Amino acid sequence: MAKALYLGDSYLRECDATVVSVTDGKYVVLDQTLFYPKGGGQPWDTGKIIKGNDVYNVVYVGKFSGEISHEVDRLGLNPRDKVHCVLDWERRYKLMRSHTAAHVFASLLCTGTGVLITGNQLDVDETRFDFSLEKFDREVLERYIDEANKLFQKDIPVKWYELPREEALKIPGVIKMAGAFPPDVDSLRIVEVVGVDRQADGGTHVRNLREVGQIKLLKAENKGKNNRRVYFSLNDTF
Ligand SMILES: [Zn+2]
Repeated sequence: MAKALYLGDSYLRECDATVVSVTDGKYVVLDQTLFYPKGGGQPWDTGKIIKGNDVYNVVYVGKFSGEISHEVDRLGLNPRDKVHCVLDWERRYKLMRSHTAAHVFASLLCTGTGVLITGNQLDVDETRFDFSLEKFDREVLERYIDEANKLFQKDIPVKWYELPREEALKIPGVIKMAGAFPPDVDSLRIVEVVGVDRQADGGTHVRNLREVGQIKLLKAENKGKNNRRVYFSLNDTF
């Protein structure tokens, strides 16, 4: 299986790789990759795979049968090709900031109100949360956004590491999503916002809360009884 370099170092923007297989001319598996595949509420990375003078744009990355598959926009890559990979860093870095912000917001909201998160989807321009709550008003949500923004002004480190499964599952709230079961593996990857939140997570995050910047509430809506949906985004003009 390809080595997923983004799990260890989410700041890696370029790497060399060797093509392992190509399916239908445009679904490429590499021996190692820095492209994040769609999953866990985080969108896929885009970027380029370069062979000599030829550039192949990576338009989609997914996990299929446990393997990370890169869809490129043209034919020409072959097994054993030596290539160079370059991430669309601007897109990824926004997702890292939003993803880290999502941990903090969700943690504050869950701790403060006892709600369960039932869905979460990040995108470059907005982050969406669904949670089970019969009633809320916008002011309450604004208050948690404000609290999160205060934390983003502090020098708070974010760490990620593996823990044995049994030990990991003893952490209160380590599985944030309602109905989510931890994967059947020996160790879980934990993402820790020091002093704020710890959860099992395979995504990419920033190393310090200061990198998030500020966030703003976009909208909140009712999606049926007991289901509320809230959208926030990075507030880069703040
Ligand atoms: Zn995460």
